[in-house]
Amino acid sequence: MSRSEISQRLSSRVNRVDTRCETSAGGPLPFAGLPQACSLQPEWRRCGKPNCRCVRGLLHSPYWYLRWRECGRQRRQYVPRERVDAMQVALEQRRRLRPPAWALRQTLAELRHLEKEIHDARHD
Ligand SMILES: [Zn+2]
Repeated sequence: MSRSEISQRLSSRVNRVDTRCETSAGGPLPFAGLPQACSLQPEWRRCGKPNCRCVRGLLHSPYWYLRWRECGRQRRQYVPRERVDAMQVALEQRRRLRPPAWALRQTLAELRHLEKEIHDARHD
């Protein structure tokens, strides 16, 4: 394979990675602003009324909280029921996107470096 073919293939590869990085990193993602490493957890409750079913162990349907650690302390934030679905989607998206997006940026930096080296070498 000739040098210019290699260079061509490298360029197209860089462009593809570039596009994926933009998709992953561009625009406000739904998990922007969420604490690092937080998780969504349900809590079942007793309401405190003496004759309620929850006294017999049938606890009330879950209240959802985001839980995370901050400076070694457990923190939590109530998530209203109508936002639980969206929050689950956001957390799932973060789980899926974060590590690949980081790895892609590393790869992209390496590829750009290689591309520049090939380009410079051609003019020696
Ligand atoms: Zn109750």
